[in-house]
Amino acid sequence: MIKQPIPLTPIEVRVLTRCPLHYHFLQQKPSRQANPAQEELAKLVRETIQDLHAAGGPARLSLEECLEKVAHQPKARQMVEPYYQRLEQDWSQMMAGNETMQLRISIGGVSLSLQATVDRLDKTSDGGILAILFRMEDGPLPLEEELRQDRAMTIYHALVAATYPLKRPVRIQEWWLTLDQRVTIELSEEEFRGNLSDLREPVQALARGEVMARPGLHCDTCPFKYHGCPVYTHETDAEAEASQDEASQAKAEDFASAAADGKISPRTWIFKI
Ligand code: SF4
Repeated sequence: MIKQPIPLTPIEVRVLTRCPLHYHFLQQKPSRQANPAQEELAKLVRETIQDLHAAGGPARLSLEECLEKVAHQPKARQMVEPYYQRLEQDWSQMMAGNETMQLRISIGGVSLSLQATVDRLDKTSDGGILAILFRMEDGPLPLEEELRQDRAMTIYHALVAATYPLKRPVRIQEWWLTLDQRVTIELSEEEFRGNLSDLREPVQALARGEVMARPGLHCDTCPFKYHGCPVYTHETDAEAEASQDEASQAKAEDFASAAADGKISPRTWIFKI
């Protein structure tokens, strides 16, 4: 039984609540998820914007100076330039940039250490706080409803609410810089508590040293589908071969009951770690 607080970022919480086995694989091979070109672009844009914030905003740093770093990266420039122009109007409401937050909480008797860095924090005219998360992908833009159900957003909400207890309401915004569009949500108390309670079962299992496979539509975007996930081991010979190295890291309790097509009830796929 794990007694130490389990460290979790919002993205890890998102993965853990969808499929604990995916989370487990990510802990073993975090680089598997990476898209190096996209990550490099996101890093460059984030650094350029952080430099702009640190310099004191558009009043202290000209657009030309700001764009120097991204001069040879058209896609990065395409994101930074409109951001700079919007910041000229928004600067007075900005409270902080690139702020790392931590929170210890207990869910279902399991201690968690939540941590995340928020790209920007703004005060709002109604006395609240807006946490802004930059997105550098091409899209598609998420629906507001999708973000409301996204457990990662709930963790950001928890962190911001705990760090700024006098600022209410808390709103979370994804700012898609490539599209220059934003999606903002404000979770109700009921949504917040409901989303957080979804963490109870997977973290209690983690504390016991167990992970469960939860196959679903999200498997289509899982990098471990044909690289370790035993649920899909039987789909093709080649894929099955590719999966063997990582599948051996988890000991299936109920391998014998696998159906011929590898699609069986997720409840039978519990692994000791
Ligand atoms: S393929 Fe599906 S079931 Fe397997 S680890 Fe990934 S998300 Fe989980």
